[in-house]
Amino acid sequence: MKKMTSIALLLAVLLVGTVVISGCSGAKPAAKAETAGAAAQAVQYTCPMHPEVISDKPGKCPKCGMTLVVKK
Ligand SMILES: [Zn+2]
Repeated sequence: MKKMTSIALLLAVLLVGTVVISGCSGAKPAAKAETAGAAAQAVQYTCPMHPEVISDKPGKCPKCGMTLVVKK
């Protein structure tokens, strides 16, 4: 009986882990690219109109509100 309980607990943990992982990747498609950028640690975002605006994460330009693009 005790063994059954631990197996059920293990299955529950696995199930919750799978749901959390798939839930995260499903809800945030951008998270994958963000993680890849953080791993590379070289990705910077800049405004197409304002090259002086540089951010280490995606966002909007504080000067014109345009979406920042990856700097190459
Ligand atoms: Zn701008």
